[in-house]
Amino acid sequence: MLIDSHCHPDGDEFDDDRAAMFERAAAAGVDGLVAIGGGAEPGTLAVGLECARTFQGHAGLKLWATVGIHPHDAARATSPANAAIWEELGQLAADPLIIAIGEIGLDYHYHHSPKEAQRDAFERQLRLAAACGLPVSVHCREAFDDCVALIAAHNPPARGVFHCFAGSWAEAEQALALGWYLSFSGVLTFNNAHGLRATAAAAPADRILIETDAPFLAPVPYRGKRNEPAFVAATAARLAEIRNVSPEAIARLTRENFFRLFPRAIL
Ligand SMILES: [Zn+2]
Ligand SMILES: [Zn+2]
Repeated sequence: MLIDSHCHPDGDEFDDDRAAMFERAAAAGVDGLVAIGGGAEPGTLAVGLECARTFQGHAGLKLWATVGIHPHDAARATSPANAAIWEELGQLAADPLIIAIGEIGLDYHYHHSPKEAQRDAFERQLRLAAACGLPVSVHCREAFDDCVALIAAHNPPARGVFHCFAGSWAEAEQALALGWYLSFSGVLTFNNAHGLRATAAAAPADRILIETDAPFLAPVPYRGKRNEPAFVAATAARLAEIRNVSPEAIARLTRENFFRLFPRAIL
């Protein structure tokens, strides 16, 4: 059975068929998934958690969630008007369904928030994760050096995963040296992703996860369409091919890795 370690099932892309989307995931061999949090103002942070609660057990699925402020939203979240968001984040993080702080990190590609605000929000949330004893799910785009520097500077060292990892082998080595995990998404199946496939082939078996990041980044043969958790099976199949092991072996090891990284996740 497969676990989609990072997706956004609360997204309005699924408003018309959310229950059926979960049923398709179960039919595709998924038995657990993580609804990633969002929000930038007080009162908006529980989107993933609410989705996980509402659909808990639907089609036999186990749903977990995260809470966190995305780098895109860092400017709003760090503005004095929204100061209450930080206490709320800490309160939500205590919920037993919350298995990580995320997605947090740095995004210098879209640059929706100034770098300073992004780094501030990231650091605050690394501290929060440490205080709660939770791992983190990191979104990092064109900001790898800064991400690694902030993670490494943190004491005690943060534990976590680079979600939707699409970096170079040299970057993978740095992430692995920190004891971190790499999560592969549908990008792994894209025609031009030769370098990423080489990285996925060489990464240690005990450090890899799979995810969809649905509704974004649908894997081949669904590329360009709305992504959904069922499609994690296509990424798992490609990862099995790349590593020359059976799909069952990939399901087993990514599952073991998931439960090791996220100890609060209990089936
Ligand atoms: Zn992301
Ligand atoms: Zn995401």
